[in-house]
Amino acid sequence: MSGRFNAVVLGAGLAGLAAAYTLSRARKRVVVVEKDTQVGGLSRTVVHRGFRFDLGGHRFFTKNPEIEELVRELLDGELVLTKRSSKIFMRGRYFDYPLRPLNALLGLGIWESAKIVLDYTRERLRSREEPVSLEDWVVANFGRELFNIFFKEYSEKVWGISCDRISAEWVAQRIRGLSLSVALRDALLKLNRRSRPPTLIREFLYPEMGIGRVAERLAEEVSPNPVLLGFNVFRIRHSGGRIMSITARNCDSEITVEADSYISSIPLPSLVRMLSPEPPEEVLRAAERLRFRDTIIVAVMVNRPRVTRLSWVYLPEKKVPFGRIHEPNNWSRAMSPPGKTSLVAEYFCFAGEKLWNMQEEELAQLTVEHLEALGFLGGDEVIDTRVVRVPNAYPLLEVGYRRHYETILDYLAGFENLQLVGRTGMFRYHNMDHAMETGIKAARNLLGERHNLLEVNCSAEYIEEAR
Ligand SMILES: Cc1cc2nc3c(=O)[nH]c(=O)nc-3n(C[C@H](O)[C@H](O)[C@H](O)COP(=O)(O)OP(=O)(O)OC[C@H]3O[C@@H](n4cnc5c(N)ncnc54)[C@H](O)[C@@H]3O)c2cc1C
Repeated sequence: MSGRFNAVVLGAGLAGLAAAYTLSRARKRVVVVEKDTQVGGLSRTVVHRGFRFDLGGHRFFTKNPEIEELVRELLDGELVLTKRSSKIFMRGRYFDYPLRPLNALLGLGIWESAKIVLDYTRERLRSREEPVSLEDWVVANFGRELFNIFFKEYSEKVWGISCDRISAEWVAQRIRGLSLSVALRDALLKLNRRSRPPTLIREFLYPEMGIGRVAERLAEEVSPNPVLLGFNVFRIRHSGGRIMSITARNCDSEITVEADSYISSIPLPSLVRMLSPEPPEEVLRAAERLRFRDTIIVAVMVNRPRVTRLSWVYLPEKKVPFGRIHEPNNWSRAMSPPGKTSLVAEYFCFAGEKLWNMQEEELAQLTVEHLEALGFLGGDEVIDTRVVRVPNAYPLLEVGYRRHYETILDYLAGFENLQLVGRTGMFRYHNMDHAMETGIKAARNLLGERHNLLEVNCSAEYIEEAR
């Protein structure tokens, strides 16, 4: 690439693009380098023969008015209001998601319900220590009975490890503010939309053509600065505490790009391994210990206008191999050709394990068989299928991960012109809005402001809850 850039952004997901967008608006020379052939990363929309689907339905929600305004402005005229209606399907029946106490209690019958309420009351009266694991937190906020019935199997399916090994920090970054009593209060007092914890919001804005439109619009606004697609960054040279260049290749060429500053949204452990010269052994070892949970998305195209009226269906039981399905048509009618619909199943696994290595036809067949057994599909309705493997979908916050994480952050803090942003880049459980906020703030740091990116997604609500 000719000439020197003010900044190189690694990765064209929402975090990277939000950074490049902010710098472009400030008239800086910036280049985005992305290994995929499409922008959006985890928040992209796949198009398949007239059908469109996200990698697991993506609901945009934010408490940050600036991010909300930016998304509304970018997608002016493209947003539709979508009703959020999610259910848990288990024991052959539907339960509300998030759990609504009356619905859960009625569905479970009087004895089990009485046990739940007694158990929950006992937990609330107990003096508790700071929760260490997901299990500690859920038991403290919902009681052990509810944990065993609704949380344990699903969480273990999602994470692939037992709940006492998942750090309570995951809760902090994800479902803070929620407890059985908050859910009850919401049900009884009908709280207004703004004061609800994010997990309870009932409707949301969705781009008519899929969530990928947010990234596509950001990329359009970055132009004429380049967004290089299909270029896999594999080497990051450094010297004297500064990043000097990045090198990336596509199928037939290699490019080296130099800039004053570097913003990385690519997976944190990968970044560490690309550094040249190599980091010290203990940093490389720490990078080995940070794991992501990966997912496989299987979209099944169906020859009828609608299968469910739901936005998501959660399937906690281990006998069903996928953990969640969604029907994109219920998010926006434009997601399928007229008269047709699709169901999108999410499998959780680790890259390299048996499920990950299955042939696409096997995965499609497995999905269709289970959708039929669950009663979602009848015979001869399937028009087509599409399988997408998604590495690095969920940072796996295992108990004890923080020691390794801090070893890496301490080492990388030694590079004065490198900033980490986003979900995979920071190894934090960020949603879309947090990812965008980190990108915007990193860009603003280059424009003279001072933001601590580690403070994003640590709202006051969480601090109060932790107390
Ligand atoms: C199943 C699922 C459902 C979700 N649902 C929601 C939801 O409902 N609401 C919500 O707000 N959030 C949701 N999220 C979270 C949301 O997807 C993320 O917060 C957001 O997309 C993260 O953006 P990012 O830019 O930080 O990371 P990413 O999207 O991971 O972007 C990183 C980019 O870097 C690229 N890259 C990686 N390695 C290299 C390399 N070597 N060279 C060049 N490029 C590279 C990747 O291809 C990718 O494009 C969901 C996530 C998942 C997995």
